[in-house]
Amino acid sequence: MLQKPVNNLTGVGEKYEEDLALLNIYTIEDLLNYFPYRYDVFEIKPLAELIHDDKVTIEGRVIYEPSLQFYGKRKSRLTFTVEVEGVAVKAVMFNRAFAKKQIHKDSTITLTGKWDAHRLQITVSNYKIGPAEAQTKIQPMYSLKGNINNIKLTKTIQQAIDKYLGAVVEILPERYLKSYKIPNRQTAIKTMHFPPNRIALKHARRRFIFEEFLLFQLKMQLLRKLKREATQGNTQQYDSMKLQEFIQSFPFTLTNAQKKSLNEILVDMKSPYRMNRLLQGDVGSGKTAVAAIGLFASITAGKQGALMVPTEILAEQHYESLQELFSDRANIALLTGSVKGKKRREIVEGVENHTIDIVVGTHALIQDDVYFADLGFVIVDEQHRFGVEQRRTLKDKGLHPDVLFMTATPIPRTLAITAFGDMDVSVIDEMPKGRKEIETYWAKENMLERILGMIENHVAAGEQAYVICPLIEESDKLDIQDAVDLHQKLVDIFPSEVRVGLMHGRLKSDEKELVMKQFADNEIQVLVSTTVVEVGVNVPNATIMVIYDAERFGLSQLHQLRGRVGRGSKQSYCILIADPKGDVGKERMRIMTETTNGFELSEQDLKLRGPGDFFGKKQSGVPEFKVADMVHDYRALETARADAQEIIEKNLLDNDEEFFQLKQLLLSDSAFSSTLD
Ligand code: ADP
Ligand code: MG
Repeated sequence: MLQKPVNNLTGVGEKYEEDLALLNIYTIEDLLNYFPYRYDVFEIKPLAELIHDDKVTIEGRVIYEPSLQFYGKRKSRLTFTVEVEGVAVKAVMFNRAFAKKQIHKDSTITLTGKWDAHRLQITVSNYKIGPAEAQTKIQPMYSLKGNINNIKLTKTIQQAIDKYLGAVVEILPERYLKSYKIPNRQTAIKTMHFPPNRIALKHARRRFIFEEFLLFQLKMQLLRKLKREATQGNTQQYDSMKLQEFIQSFPFTLTNAQKKSLNEILVDMKSPYRMNRLLQGDVGSGKTAVAAIGLFASITAGKQGALMVPTEILAEQHYESLQELFSDRANIALLTGSVKGKKRREIVEGVENHTIDIVVGTHALIQDDVYFADLGFVIVDEQHRFGVEQRRTLKDKGLHPDVLFMTATPIPRTLAITAFGDMDVSVIDEMPKGRKEIETYWAKENMLERILGMIENHVAAGEQAYVICPLIEESDKLDIQDAVDLHQKLVDIFPSEVRVGLMHGRLKSDEKELVMKQFADNEIQVLVSTTVVEVGVNVPNATIMVIYDAERFGLSQLHQLRGRVGRGSKQSYCILIADPKGDVGKERMRIMTETTNGFELSEQDLKLRGPGDFFGKKQSGVPEFKVADMVHDYRALETARADAQEIIEKNLLDNDEEFFQLKQLLLSDSAFSSTLD
């Protein structure tokens, strides 16, 4: 019934049908599900409160018969006077000559239109004979194309509702309608188009938000389940005793968040499925420590591990910290582009004949001639810096190895739920105890002298500083010039014993590495840099981060930059030099000075930017919802997610009558029709 084409409705001819097709409306069902994009709310207010030029609604009594004038061919103007609160108001209505027959002296009438407060006149766009039904009228506003206007579409939808609403089938199980107190599908559709009041509208919207999220979550979780079952993995029989002993050898105890993530990883490793997990956590939250335990588990299971990172310095740093943690428990090798000749040959051989247990490296790890004897555990750090192809190549060097991706870019929970449909996510949202929180200040450019003085004092005390220049595009010449100029300026200002280095995207990668190494070795004390410094390098001796034109960065990026300091035992500072013009910019600076928690910050960022912008246009895996909004309705998203989980775990689609319609709906989706049932 609902699949009938719209031309089954009276008044829908060929032209109208074409216009409806522009809105992707072909069937009665499409029409019923074409919800208003907003609502105009008309409230009857006292005349004195009406604002000039606003769209208003008034109710009054006609005191003079309307007079009608024609001009041009089909143009007309109807004028009459109504009494409102004892005041005579003039009403003007264009091109609706027929109304003259309906409007009579002494009848009560409700008028909506544009208000002219100076002439006490209303230019009527809508009228209704009789009093206003309620103090408030909610008018649906549809987005339109072609020759369709709002009145016409509203009437067509009204007709569709009158004739076909009874055919609409409920797809949500009764239990959800009851426990969430949401209206059934028929009521909700009618209410979306013709809301009797605000509260009813709110509940109808709540229903569709839940429905959209539940369907989305069900599809995603089903796909994930199918994928999981299709990816054969290995059961890694690690040695729990040895693992305990290893963890106890650490100079610290794991935080609860680390323990939880570790546990999730170990469960994956034991399972017959291949692990495909993202480990998220702020810089310094202890991801590497958790990853190291995973690596060790794999080794006790007789396998090898690999850790791939984006730069050579990072590889070296990870190599050193792993060696420290493992001491003689594993044979660890470093394989980067600068490892060459005999040394490289030895490592490649060792990897192939399993005398090496763990390799840490850059892209050099995925070269063709690197074969692993038995690769069981793969870690990719700062995963977004590698292409899909590179990640896959490393993974393919083993037989279904477990894979762990790590990132220090916190992704809001709401997005993580949706964006990583095929990945499991672990979160370390707690910092090890005893860290000093970075103090963040927002400064204006005219405080530069004081800031430079502060840098000088800290350098004199043996510490180091970053000074970041903004860089929107790596190829942006002007911005590089900024960095070059600033570098020169600082060289001139600081005494000669303060060495100032320069780093930007135009340097060759070995030049960048050299500068970074000099900074890491404290041969350079102040590093002027564009944002290329953003990723992963650990210089615990650096305690000051100055960010120029901070208003040009997003919150996540500012947070990443700030994470370069605060890695040692000394108090660190972040100074944002910014003069934001807009409210959003000011809000960003305020948030930065108030929190150092990356997850909290990313949630705020999401609110300021919206989900589309958050991921950038290209990789936006964020689905479009008709009614729901991932940011504002995140509670409903969580609810729907839990419900979807329960449906799948208990297999309610097959086992419970109430879920019959929902299952039919999923079956009609091509992605599932072959696999469900
Ligand atoms: P990430 O990889 O998340 O940036 P790391 O694992 O490199 O963090 O840890 C940062 C520093 O904190 C390292 O020096 C590490 O030894 C230390 N660390 C890790 N976990 C803890 C903990 N639970 N308690 C104290 N220090 C820790
Ligand atoms: Mg790290």
